Amino acid sequence: MRDNGLCPSCTLEMESTAHSLWTCPVANDVWAESSLKLQKWDRYIPNFCDLMMAVRERLSREDVQLFSCVTYFIWRQRNNMVYEGATSNPFAVVQRATKLLQGYRDTLHSAGVRDRVVDSLVGQTQREPSRAWVPPPRSFYKVNWEAYMDSSTRVWTAGVLIRDYEGQVLAATCMPALSPPRGAHPKLYVCVQVLCFALEMGFLDIICEGPTIQSLMALKFCPMGSTIEDSWLEEIWFLIQKFRRCMFSCISSYSNQGAWILAKFGSTLNDSRVWIEEVPVMLQNSL
Ligand SMILES: [Zn+2]
Repeated sequence: MRDNGLCPSCTLEMESTAHSLWTCPVANDVWAESSLKLQKWDRYIPNFCDLMMAVRERLSREDVQLFSCVTYFIWRQRNNMVYEGATSNPFAVVQRATKLLQGYRDTLHSAGVRDRVVDSLVGQTQREPSRAWVPPPRSFYKVNWEAYMDSSTRVWTAGVLIRDYEGQVLAATCMPALSPPRGAHPKLYVCVQVLCFALEMGFLDIICEGPTIQSLMALKFCPMGSTIEDSWLEEIWFLIQKFRRCMFSCISSYSNQGAWILAKFGSTLNDSRVWIEEVPVMLQNSL
């Protein structure tokens, strides 16, 4: 806020939440650019709470979500204008908001569908022949991991199995993925836990083999995007930098038996469990 309390964007009125996000001409330009049906609404509202009440009454659930995203990026634009001297770009603000919301919806959609599919296959006969485990080159360790969601509790668990080039089990764990964030696939969150476990155990040259996650396979640079998924990919990116060598490969859960059994076993526990240089008993006939 300026010393005189005036809005730094338009310098016409006193700065307030309602002004910044609604009444200010800079905010107005953004709302005009959006597809939301609020162009004819009264521009002069006493406070932002009243605006939110109107939004909830008059807009559909989907549009309330878009409204919230646009509001967030109007606020970000103001910060960029005040602190970094950026110019306003209403089109870009609406685009970012739409992209954030779309990413969020896509992720929820794909998480729901994919995991129902995986869940329906649990305990059934295998639908495809499982591929034999391929050992890593001598100087690498292979970190096989899987994420399992219990369909009744909807809690995710991770199963991790670390083996050397001779197939010796060096470390294994199963752990609950507590409170994964909404808006990013829970498997990304599980992947963060997997990398942390490998680091804690001191394995610095790894091939991380697990579920197919397109965004993870495409991770070649530090992500700069603004979606929730981007921020998790960024977290993964920073973890990758802590290894000497870290590569990713995909494997179906049928061929990833060991990690899959561990993840599923983990869902019966309340806590995590770690095995070091021993084969977990439930895997003794499966490796
Ligand atoms: Zn203003």
